[in-house]
Amino acid sequence: MSDDAKVCKICAAPFTGRGEVIVCSVECGVKYSKRLMHIRRERRQLALMPVPKQTCVACGSEFLSRAPLRHCSEACRDEWHNNRRRTDSGTNGPTGQEGQHHVHEDDHQDP
Ligand SMILES: [Zn+2]
Ligand SMILES: [Zn+2]
Repeated sequence: MSDDAKVCKICAAPFTGRGEVIVCSVECGVKYSKRLMHIRRERRQLALMPVPKQTCVACGSEFLSRAPLRHCSEACRDEWHNNRRRTDSGTNGPTGQEGQHHVHEDDHQDP
């Protein structure tokens, strides 16, 4: 076993250590673990930071929301639903022609 020449991650002092050792002393080790925890906490906060941008389907304006909303406000949501209901009843529903599927029978096969 031979010690490797390393540089402390905390105080940047050159030292010799085996294997995974990255700090020169226990003191620096404590600092390093604290720093790691701090970094981890910051990352967690960062992960929560970005708020996806949504586009309102009613008025087309962009808004920020973590929830997968499609409307910027309750007013827009109500308006959108009202419009939908109006157009749905206006078109008198599907004509039924789509339902008649012409099934091409291809069962006839030569032996
Ligand atoms: Zn150190
Ligand atoms: Zn809107």
